[in-house]
Amino acid sequence: MSLPALDDGTPAQAVVDLDAISDNVRALRGHAPSSDLMAVVKADGYGHGMLPVARAALAGGARWLGVATAAEALALRAGLGATDARLLVWLLTPGAPFADLLRADVDVTAGAPWALDEIAVGARAAGQVARVHLKVDTGLSRGGVAMRDLPDVVRRAAALEASGELRVVGVFSHLACADEPGHPSIARQAAAFADALDAVASAGLRPEVRHLANSAATLTLPGLHHDVVRTGISVYGFSPGPLLGAPSDHGLRPAMTLRARLAGVKQVDAGEGVSYGHLYTTSQDTRLGLVPVGYGDGVPRQASGGSAGPGGPFAVGSGADRRVLRVAGRVCMDQLVLDLGPGARERAGDVVTLFGASDGVAHGAEVPNAQDWAEAVGTISYEIVTRLGARVPRTYLSRGVVEP
Ligand SMILES: *Cc1c(COP(=O)(O)O)cnc(C)c1O
Repeated sequence: MSLPALDDGTPAQAVVDLDAISDNVRALRGHAPSSDLMAVVKADGYGHGMLPVARAALAGGARWLGVATAAEALALRAGLGATDARLLVWLLTPGAPFADLLRADVDVTAGAPWALDEIAVGARAAGQVARVHLKVDTGLSRGGVAMRDLPDVVRRAAALEASGELRVVGVFSHLACADEPGHPSIARQAAAFADALDAVASAGLRPEVRHLANSAATLTLPGLHHDVVRTGISVYGFSPGPLLGAPSDHGLRPAMTLRARLAGVKQVDAGEGVSYGHLYTTSQDTRLGLVPVGYGDGVPRQASGGSAGPGGPFAVGSGADRRVLRVAGRVCMDQLVLDLGPGARERAGDVVTLFGASDGVAHGAEVPNAQDWAEAVGTISYEIVTRLGARVPRTYLSRGVVEP
């Protein structure tokens, strides 16, 4: 895929290749051929844009879309209109707009004992039978009904099924350490999930779908795929973590390219301190390039580079001049500096790339990916793409052409 030219005057831009999203979904369906696929599009599609990603995922064969919050679910339904896909929302708080969610044909999650009765009230208000997924905590100790509370919750759910307010259509749980192959918690959670399914069955509930696998489990744990796999980060083209290899090992490619235009290039002497705090000092007469992105755009301030360690990586130059450079000095709110080196040929207006559709420098590529940025600042690729700020315009490519 070749990227469109960056518009004149645009300081920074994220280009999202929607074909990569659709192709990643196809590849993931190949990893879980007996299961349906839920594309997780929470947090504005991991920073890529919820609606364009959702449409591209459906084009790739996703049958489900998953989001965290009620507001996301309602915006997703408003944007998509009626679809064959099912929508699921899982992170709800007391007072959530259950009636609105049911009218919007969204499946809702009961992840705590309080939820069933509020769902029932919402169902009566909407005049509909709520489609409910029970979320069980099998060992993540985050959301979900605790195993010790499950017998009471399934009894209450069965009563509300009998009285016609809701139907338990799904049972699910979430894994703590699926990105660490062989982690002992995986087998424990799988066993607890089997116990939870037994508890649900003995209460007389007959859910349509069971789901446990996130991206890591979808790629590496076929025994845990169940009826639906809930894939997030892999839809966007990333391996869930460094222990699971590069995107291309799994038939994936990153969908987002983040690039910026140099705002200026200037000659400085050896021994000059660069950016706030003078964290970085030029070691020779050199040329500095000013990049107009900073933490106000979501570039982590921890990606600063200097005496304490190398900064976040950039691909700079083309052809024989192509190289990966590290941020020189502090990342500021709106800008950062690259030491382009003595005799560098870059000029104001030239485009530099923070990350793109590649396996990343760690895997020998010339262009970093979000995983390289994650490793440079001690986080995960998820955070790098999701925190990308609203100030950075997103441009969408479909079949290699910019979407209007
Ligand atoms: C975010 C999320 C996912 C997706 O996880 P990935 O690691 O991005 O695949 C799946 N299920 C639940 C409940 C989530 O919150």
